[in-house]
Order: sequence, then C-alpha cells, then structure tokens
Amino acid sequence: MSDNQGFDLIVIGAGSGGVRLARMSAQKGARVAVVESRYLGGTCVNVGCVPKKLFVYGAHVQEDLDDAAGYGWRIPKDGVSFDWPTLVANKNTEIERLNGIYGQLLESAGVEVIRGTASIRDANTVVVGDQHYSAKHITVATGSWPVVPDIPGKECILTSNEMFYLPQLPRHAVVWGGGYIAVEFAGILSGLGVKTTLLYRGDLFLRGFDEDVRRFTEQEMRKKGIDLQFNVTIESIEAHNAHYQVNLSDGEVLETGLVMAATGRRALVDGLGLAELGIELNASGHIVVDDHFQTSVPSVTALGDVIGTPQLTPVAIAQGMVLSRRLFGDGQGEMDYSAIPTAVFCQPNIGTVGLTEEEARKAGHSLRIYKSDFRPMKYTLSGRDERCLMKLVVDDQTDKVLGAHMVGPDAGEIIQGLAVAIKAGATKAQFDSTMGIHPTSAEEFVTMRDPVA
Ligand code: NDP
Repeated sequence: MSDNQGFDLIVIGAGSGGVRLARMSAQKGARVAVVESRYLGGTCVNVGCVPKKLFVYGAHVQEDLDDAAGYGWRIPKDGVSFDWPTLVANKNTEIERLNGIYGQLLESAGVEVIRGTASIRDANTVVVGDQHYSAKHITVATGSWPVVPDIPGKECILTSNEMFYLPQLPRHAVVWGGGYIAVEFAGILSGLGVKTTLLYRGDLFLRGFDEDVRRFTEQEMRKKGIDLQFNVTIESIEAHNAHYQVNLSDGEVLETGLVMAATGRRALVDGLGLAELGIELNASGHIVVDDHFQTSVPSVTALGDVIGTPQLTPVAIAQGMVLSRRLFGDGQGEMDYSAIPTAVFCQPNIGTVGLTEEEARKAGHSLRIYKSDFRPMKYTLSGRDERCLMKLVVDDQTDKVLGAHMVGPDAGEIIQGLAVAIKAGATKAQFDSTMGIHPTSAEEFVTMRDPVA
C-alpha cells in the first residue's frame, strides 16, 4: 500500500459537476485528482442527456419523412427502412469521441485521472484499490442511479442504462413511470415504430409541471398513438419464451417484448464509507450539505445528483464552478436555484421556466394567464395534426412574467432565450414591446395580447 500525499482536491466522480469542479480548480493552481470507476462524462454523456437527444433526433425522422409528402417530396414507403443497430453504433462512436474530449480536457488542465472505485477512509484520505491518496479537500460527485421498484419479476426490467445498448427493438414495449425519462423514452420508442404503452401510478403524468402542459402533452402523445394508462402500476412480471407478461394493478395483463422502468433515481453513495465517517444522509438517501456544499465533515463536500438538488447537468456544472471558487478562488459565490429552465424531450418537446400557474397561485400571486394553442406553420402543408401550446404566467400587480411554458417543436431552444428575460425580471409590457421574429412559433410569446384568465 502506497501513500500519495498532497492533493489539494480529490473529486470522486467524473460526471458533469465533478469534471467542471476538477478542471476549474486545477486552472486556479490547485493540485487535483479525479477518481472514476466507470466512464468519463458521467450519466449525461454516457447514458443520459447526450445519447437520449441523439435517439430523439433519430426517432423524429419518420415524422419528417411523412411530412415531406405535403411539400412535394415522394418517398416510396417500401424504399424506407430503419436499422436500430446502426443508430446505436453511431451513437456509441459519438459517445467515445466525447469520452476522449473529457479526458483531454482534464489532462490539459493538469488533473490526474485515477481509474477505480473510491472510498473515503478519513476526512483527508481517499482509497482506490491498494492506493491511499491524501487531500486537503474531498468532493463526492458520484451522481445517481436508476431505481427499480421491488416487485416479483423485477429482474426482467430494463432501465435507461440498458436501453442505450439494446441489441434490438421489440415490437411492443411497456414504459413504467411518468417523469422525464419515461415520457422521453416513450416518445423515442414510439417514433422508432415500437408500439408503446406508458404506465403511470397517478392521475396524470409529469407531476410538478404546469397542469396545462401536462394535459396538452397527454393529448399530443395520445395522437401519436402512444397508449397512456394512468392510475395503474405493475404488480408483477413473468418471463415467457419470447415475451413478458405484465400483471397490472387493475387486473389487466399486458404481453410485451420489453419492460423499462423510469421510476426515479437514487443517490449513488454505495461503498463510499460515508456512514463510517459520520456523513449524514437525508430520508431520501441524498448527502446532506449546507449552502456551500459542505457535509457534516468539513473537509468533505458534495455536489450534483448525489445531494438531491435538481438532477440536471447545468445545475451540477454551476455547482462545480461555485464550489471551485469557494475552495480555491475568492471564497465567494452562491447557487441560485430560481427559475431553472428545463426541457423534456418527449414528442413534441416541453420547455419550461419559472413558476407554473399552480405554484404561482399557491404562492399568493394574483395572476393574468396568457395562452396560445395553434398548429405550427410547418404542419399546415403536411397536414400533420400536431398542435403547439405556449403559456405565460404573469403577476397582475407587478406585471412580472413569473413563468413561461411551451409544448411544441424546439420548445427547449425557445425557452432558453426566454429564461434570460424571466431571470432578469422582465414584465409582460416588455414582452409586448419586443418585436417578434416572423414567421416563427416563438413570436407567439411576444404577441399574446389578451389574458384568458
Ligand atoms: P422522475 O423523478 O422525474 O420520475 C419518476 C417517475 O416514476 C414519476 O412519475 C414517479 O411517480 C414514478 N415512480 C416513482 N416510484 C415509483 C414506484 N415505486 N412505482 C411506480 N411509479 C413510480 O425520475 P426519472 O427517472 O424520470 O428522471 C430522474 C431525473 O433525471 C429527473 O427528475 C430529471 O431531473 C433528470 N432528467 C432530466 C432530463 C432532461 O433534462 N431532459 C431527462 C431525463 C432525466 P410520481 O410522480 O407519482 O412520484
């Protein structure tokens, strides 16, 4: 056993937050190591945002081909085919390229990458294999991992991790859950021609999103032929030769070729030795930290999915930058979790920033609500029966726009710009005095004149 003395910082986990913290700290002159047991880039790059978005693009191609006819393109039906292994292989090539870039970024910043599984021996020592590494600061940035409910037959269930490497697509799939990952994968599978059933335990999926957004998304997903079943859950699964029998809580039985659970993610803290060190976890299993990411052991900090803040890549990256500044910069910097924009890449996309109508009413605002529900211009010639929803939640007294919500093509792209305005405290009058870009869908956000409520 050897002792490698003298790191200023050891980061455990080379995901989005950990890598940003490591790089920025090294650039400030700190001696930094990052320990990684799996892949550089973490969930986002390997089994999350990036491959998911590539699959979403792939899944949308069929609709683009269908729409082409209205624009005069003749695409013979029997001349079009889709090859899933090609999509997976091309995606893998791109992910490997990104893994390489992450490695280069760390190397050029002077960060030492240690491959292996880390545990924290004491307040200033990390153990990887038979090596001991000492550091002034240790940061846990180990992320999260999918959770599968404990039901009979759970071993038959896949999670998003495996979906990215599926050898072949089934004819029918069941997606279990009603959050981001479930609706995104239901859209991917359905777009790629898999008959898809989504099962959600509550009245309406996408809990926490604006009610109009949830209903509108339901309507549009149903139009695309996705079988949405609410108030139902899976009780057990039986594996038969070439299929699974899924027994539901309402007595129904589904025969399917694949069951995917997207029923949430837990903090990945296994084997770190946190309990032995006295580092506190909360009831949901996340590491408890103060506003400056400090755990109950002062030299140990934590950030990203593992601390239970919004499980979003830009949040982890922002946390990495704040923590680096606090540890090795001027000691200043705070996270601001208000008005975090987010997108769900279901079909059509959801983009949202700020308060939902329900949150704003609960917070005591008297509101003006503006809504526009229209068929995007692109679909007029193609005849596609898909609509777009835009909604503004405005404080009636101050005229401040509290929230902007959209369901429709490129919602994430559009809401990102509006997020700047909302963060800056823009009023509805300022939205109204902004020129639209014509003809776009986005211009609706600055031309909604009359409140609907
Ligand atoms: P979410 O927490 O968003 O959703 C979990 C879903 O599973 C909910 O609908 C929940 O129901 C349901 N559920 C939980 N436990 C059970 C159970 N025991 N039985 C049946 N249903 C259950 O988790 P996801 O896995 O979808 O995603 C994790 C996080 O990753 C997201 O919250 C998001 O922060 C991030 N993410 C972001 C993306 C993006 O930015 N586009 C894409 C993908 C993920 P209920 O609502 O009733 O609790």
